[in-house]
Amino acid sequence: MNIIDMRSDTVTLPSVGMRQAMIEAPVGDDVFGGDPTVNLLQEKVADLLGKEAALFVPSGTMGNQLALKVHTQPGDQMILEGGAHIYRYEGGGPGLLAGVLTTCVPSDGGQITWEKIAGAMNPLDVHSAPPTLLCLENTHNRAGGRVLAQENVVEISAKAHMAGLRVHLDGARLWHAHIANGLSLAELVQPVDTVSVCFSKALGAPVGSVLAGDAASIQQAYRFRKMFGGGMRQVGILAAGCLYALENQLDRLAEDHHHATVLATGLDHPALRVNHPVDTNIVIMDVKGPGADQALVEHLKENNVLAMGFGPGRVRLIPNLNTSAKDVQQVLDVLNSFSGELN
Ligand SMILES: *Cc1c(COP(=O)(O)O)cnc(C)c1O
Repeated sequence: MNIIDMRSDTVTLPSVGMRQAMIEAPVGDDVFGGDPTVNLLQEKVADLLGKEAALFVPSGTMGNQLALKVHTQPGDQMILEGGAHIYRYEGGGPGLLAGVLTTCVPSDGGQITWEKIAGAMNPLDVHSAPPTLLCLENTHNRAGGRVLAQENVVEISAKAHMAGLRVHLDGARLWHAHIANGLSLAELVQPVDTVSVCFSKALGAPVGSVLAGDAASIQQAYRFRKMFGGGMRQVGILAAGCLYALENQLDRLAEDHHHATVLATGLDHPALRVNHPVDTNIVIMDVKGPGADQALVEHLKENNVLAMGFGPGRVRLIPNLNTSAKDVQQVLDVLNSFSGELN
């Protein structure tokens, strides 16, 4: 039986072409800077993002945590949005690894205003942790894959810089923002100091993220990557998958976005609603009724569809590289036949 897996865009499998590219990749010891394929990926991504330098890392989490370490001193204050991956899903890393005090601010669809940030910033006073870093997330996962309005990114980054803060962007799904609004990747990240991007999600590579930014920050991140245990050896085998993904599997993300829209608009059930604009590849359904979210996940599973419970009353679907138009129709049929809590 064919299982349709929409739990995440991380479930994508390396294609035959990608596996071939990985087999053929020239490699060397990357801790010594001697892996030609890693070096090529780093140069290419730095160039694409319009940044001076880039560093290959094993995960998006490590890319983000390195940025925090580079931009802050222990005891500093970091400000971000309350649903941010860095805050919720990185194992408490900011407190443990960078030793920062985290202040969360509320957002509208993942987007925070300067007013909220300024209101959250500690005064420069002996009693308070000094604010030194602002983190943003584009696209925003918990908000439903929302693309940040670029004028907002430009404005809050500029004001943060004026106030003496550095700005890091969690761009695990930056690719989707680029496909959705047509701005170049470099334009999207021009306002921020560092950005991390993921290849292991919708782009379909098995492993790998890149942190990009100014040369001094990336040089520091290189040292901390070793300290965090992320110095890898003949890792061009993985970087080759990322290069292949960039060249062959970036433009097709439009297809995932289309499938997400079809899912959201085809939903026809009194207990299921999508309460966010579907900008990209993520669909978050609000499920009515106590326990109905888990009941829906079970109903889907019984019908060979995998989805992710996303907090009370919420279920997330992400169509991906493995998803066909036929799969999308099948998932809609299964969703619309849900007989759970109809109160
Ligand atoms: C997936 C994700 C990451 C990084 O996840 P890893 O599993 O560590 O690669 C970072 N930020 C966002 C918004 C994500 O969705």
